[in-house]
Amino acid sequence: MNLSIVIPLLNEEESLQELHDWIVSVMRSNRFSYEILFVDDGSTDTSWQLISRLSAENSNVKGIRFLRNFGKSQALHAGFKAAEGEVIITMDADLQDNPEEIPELYRMINEEGYDLVSGWKKKRYDSLLSKNMPSKLFNWAARKTSGVKLHDFNCGLKAFDRKVVKNIEVSGEMHRYIPVLAKNAGFSNIGEKVVLHQARKYGKTKFGMERFINGFLDLITIWFVSKFGKRPMHLFGALGVLMFIIGFGFALYLGIDKLFINPTGRLITDRPQFFLSLTAMIIGTQLFLAGFLGEILIRSRKNEARYSISEETDHVQKEEQYSS
Ligand code: UDP
Ligand code: MG
Repeated sequence: MNLSIVIPLLNEEESLQELHDWIVSVMRSNRFSYEILFVDDGSTDTSWQLISRLSAENSNVKGIRFLRNFGKSQALHAGFKAAEGEVIITMDADLQDNPEEIPELYRMINEEGYDLVSGWKKKRYDSLLSKNMPSKLFNWAARKTSGVKLHDFNCGLKAFDRKVVKNIEVSGEMHRYIPVLAKNAGFSNIGEKVVLHQARKYGKTKFGMERFINGFLDLITIWFVSKFGKRPMHLFGALGVLMFIIGFGFALYLGIDKLFINPTGRLITDRPQFFLSLTAMIIGTQLFLAGFLGEILIRSRKNEARYSISEETDHVQKEEQYSS
């Protein structure tokens, strides 16, 4: 199969039929073998009924339905695990991304050998204040911290070589940084293509202003992870141990000084340096505990369910182990 088109969606009933017809016409005129994987991220409108119907009418359409809303990252992850195509496309369901871009994206992965090609909404049809300005800042910060030279990290339209999506884990709110996740996983051949973008045709955006807070926290997280490996908390732990050693060493010095070098001097407890070294030991212990706590959290979260699937249409591929 040439293409898997993964579409995460939340309450997009107005767009689905139109989006489906548009994608199918592009697939047919390019003679692609394809699947459309709709991942319903807990819609409360008729989206799932529509997906079931589309899937019954067109065997290339598959649907995965989450039990509740788990977020776009989880929806993409589920789509990635089920995808069977050589090239995986992600796009939003709201008709803002243009399916006519797919053939060229496919060619860039398949012929030019990119691991990942990210869309760039150079001419963007969203509100200036709530989206365009913050996202400029956002993209700048993401470029600086990750070293991935993209203009538009958050574009929903992207293309991936199959091995990329089978080897990355999109968790939390990380859908904004999939190219960075890919780079950290060792896929460095990352391209960018200017893509057409439309204003949202129906409904309204599913992300409020909290997207920017979440986005920046994720940016810090991902910067940390890429700088300090899989265990960023080790940094705090190590800092704590270092501070403790400095504080302890200083206290030891004061003790030796009092006992052997300068026995007639002031009592240790009368010297302000003693309290400084005590403080360093206390802060060091706390930092170490913070690192330890982080470690426990990371370890215990590994076993936590990321999402629950309530139903799937026929023929959805089961998760597979993939290597190479
Ligand atoms: N979406 C989703 N889960 C969510 C929020 C959004 O699957 O919790 C989908 C949404 O239906 C759309 C895509 O993610 O297909 C992008 O969302 P939206 O258009 O609201 O974002 P924007 O274009 O404003 O960045
Ligand atoms: Mg949108």
